[in-house]
Amino acid sequence: MTDTFKAFLVTEQDGAYRQSVVERNIEDLPAGEVLIKVEYSSVNYKDALSSSGNKGVTRSYPHTPGIDAAGVVASSDDTHFQRGDKVLVMGYDLGMNVAGGFAEYVRVPSDWVIHRPENLSAEDAMVFGTAGFTASMCVDTLLQVGIDPEQGPVLVTGASGGVGSIAVWLLSNLGFDVIASTGKAGQEAMLKALGAKEIVMRDSLLDNNKRPMNKPVWAAAIDTVGGPILSNILKSIRYGGSVACCGMVAGGDINTSVFPFILRGVNLLGVDSVELPLDVKQDIWNIIGSQWLFDNFAEFKQSMCTTISLDQLPDAISQILKGAHIGRYLVKIA
Ligand code: NDP
Repeated sequence: MTDTFKAFLVTEQDGAYRQSVVERNIEDLPAGEVLIKVEYSSVNYKDALSSSGNKGVTRSYPHTPGIDAAGVVASSDDTHFQRGDKVLVMGYDLGMNVAGGFAEYVRVPSDWVIHRPENLSAEDAMVFGTAGFTASMCVDTLLQVGIDPEQGPVLVTGASGGVGSIAVWLLSNLGFDVIASTGKAGQEAMLKALGAKEIVMRDSLLDNNKRPMNKPVWAAAIDTVGGPILSNILKSIRYGGSVACCGMVAGGDINTSVFPFILRGVNLLGVDSVELPLDVKQDIWNIIGSQWLFDNFAEFKQSMCTTISLDQLPDAISQILKGAHIGRYLVKIA
């Protein structure tokens, strides 16, 4: 093992942020029990914010973003992990205020580290990454409250995004009729190829009449956008249905009455992938590795993922900030 390694570094000067790939020393990494040689990372919206100086995500610079990292243990002070173990890290403070996965090495507390399921390569783990893990959590949350394909169609919002596209793919592989909502004209073929049965345009979900409830349409929903769209979706969930809510690109506030809850028994279920206890994270990764790498996973990966190097991160970040990307960027580190 060398003492130096390559890392993507964001520096701040006079309020401007500069991104470059530099050599760093292992001793520059924060304290932690487990040193991991990173093989793959992925780019999430939060990484784009951290890379462009968003102080709500990253308080101080210089900083290496990357909220996801998959690789092998290089050394460990915790007997639970041995050199060579296949691992991944996501969430907690990785890539936000702790040097993250856009680098050849990360060093983290052992209670952040997940044993990668045996058949899940570092690359495939990052096809999921935080976005796919969150989609998986949303699906698992709906399954846990008993939603099944016989009950009717499931709506997914933000369907062309990271979380939404994987949610569409997972639900369709599990036998659900998926209705994909998108704001992007021209993505119908892509969403149908992922398994969506029908496409609805995002604006059609904004019908903000004053009625407390609308005609019941969907058995369940995975909502990645929040705001007025989520407020409106709640009015159209069938009796006893559930909505897994994980995002807020359309807004942080919702405006609802109690009627969907008290007259139709609708459940609004919150999903957080960041601070989730490690044992629950591990369980969901085990489900992904053992049950949810469906036969068409290779096809999904080929159509939805673009593999880039550390040097190509600035372009990818700018595409994400412009909302111009489709699918996921994988970062090949080693
Ligand atoms: P992406 O940027 O990849 O996708 C978001 C999608 O939302 C876009 O592709 C677009 O899809 C839709 N969208 C964009 N702008 C708007 C808008 N103004 N109004 C309505 N829809 C819009 O993000 P991710 O999929 O990675 O993340 C989605 C959300 O989930 C984010 O809010 C993110 O912060 C959150 N998240 C939460 C996690 C958790 O643990 N709770 C973990 C990971 C992410 P389309 O054009 O198809 O409608």
